[in-house]
Amino acid sequence: MTQLRTIFHADARRDPDSLLRLFVVVALVSIILITSLAGYAFYLVLQKNLIDSAEDDAVKVSMALSEDERARFTVVRSDGTVAVEVLPENFFVLDRDLRTFLAPFDIVKIKIYSSDYRIVYSTEKKLIGEVNRGNMRLARALAGAFDSKLERKDEVKDLADELKFNVDVVETYIPIRARGKVIGSFEVYIDVTKYHRQTMNAALLSLAALCGILFSVFGISFVLIRKGTNELKETQETLRKQTLIDGLTGTFNKSQIELIGRREFARALRRREKGLADSEVGFIMIDIDHFKQVNDRYGHLAGDHLLQLFAERVGASLRSYDSVGRFGGEEFLVVLPGSDREQTLSVAHKIWTLIREEPFLVDGQTLRVTTSAGVANVQHNDDDLLQVLKRADLNLYQAKSGGRDRVI
Ligand code: GH3
Ligand code: MG
Ligand code: MG
Repeated sequence: MTQLRTIFHADARRDPDSLLRLFVVVALVSIILITSLAGYAFYLVLQKNLIDSAEDDAVKVSMALSEDERARFTVVRSDGTVAVEVLPENFFVLDRDLRTFLAPFDIVKIKIYSSDYRIVYSTEKKLIGEVNRGNMRLARALAGAFDSKLERKDEVKDLADELKFNVDVVETYIPIRARGKVIGSFEVYIDVTKYHRQTMNAALLSLAALCGILFSVFGISFVLIRKGTNELKETQETLRKQTLIDGLTGTFNKSQIELIGRREFARALRRREKGLADSEVGFIMIDIDHFKQVNDRYGHLAGDHLLQLFAERVGASLRSYDSVGRFGGEEFLVVLPGSDREQTLSVAHKIWTLIREEPFLVDGQTLRVTTSAGVANVQHNDDDLLQVLKRADLNLYQAKSGGRDRVI
């Protein structure tokens, strides 16, 4: 349930992976639905064809019988009307002729009814004489309509009196007419087991083909959509980076380093209020001295390159959980979670030393650079990050006005 809620969550519109999961679920449900419905419809059509063709055969056989054998299963009454009846002297020849006639067809049984629902003849002898009142299908036939139905029989005795098991049979009632009036009905049982199995196989085969086509179509769609969602994810990642990272130096941009600072500031206050250890956080504002001269002397591109190398060197000197971001043109803010006053000062001195002692190689030129840094830590009465940053900025200003190349 939770899984489903995740899949169908409204965020699917934004998260490419949920979009892909949603597609897979919809595709699978569609495949199951389409295949089941198509399979069922296909089976119904094939079954109807099967019954129709069996009914056709039954009607043709009955017509032929009516022509050839009519005299043996009808009698003309004294009032001149014709009725369905098999006289004892006709029985033997009728039975022999019917069996010979029906042998080449897949007919397993035939019955002849009189208009009063009585079985006057059946290839299964013990049924003769039974009265089938209440047989609605027979009633329909006696009212003049054909009626066919496919049924599965556990066992059936065929014309040679042999038992057959699990047989699919189409039972058809065919009205017998005389001078326009219905005087009785045939009931013909045709064995369609073989055709029924073929029908099922054809239905299953078509279903498998349909399933294959659907899987291919959805498979191709899946690959295309996954390609799309991967591209979307990459674009999202690039965009996310662009909103966090400064394009030139690869450090955090101003708003992101401020956000990190604010988060660390809040965490420090929270821990301090609870009397927990590790409630310190240190901030360093670093500004390159006389950077304008680099631009003026070596060009703006060289200035850019120096900024990159500078940021790299600062970043390399920090712990994994410290952060550095570009706060202005050539001014950077370093956030040191858990660092007290002394530790912050020590990191500031480390950076200051690393920059001034090792010259930078920019476009084949060796540039010696110095920095000024202002340091500040969260104090008891601070209730906003800006207060801390202001102190760091003030210290940076003092470092500059005191002659640069120092940490205050
Ligand atoms: P100070 O020692 O007082 O910091 O002097 P400064 O020259 O470093 O500082 P100032 O604020 O006078 O000049 C900073 C210069 O940095 C001016 C600006 O053109 C340059 N700058 C700012 N952003 C970029 C940048 O992305 N690339 C380059 N090449 N130069 C930049
Ligand atoms: Mg400067
Ligand atoms: Mg500056």
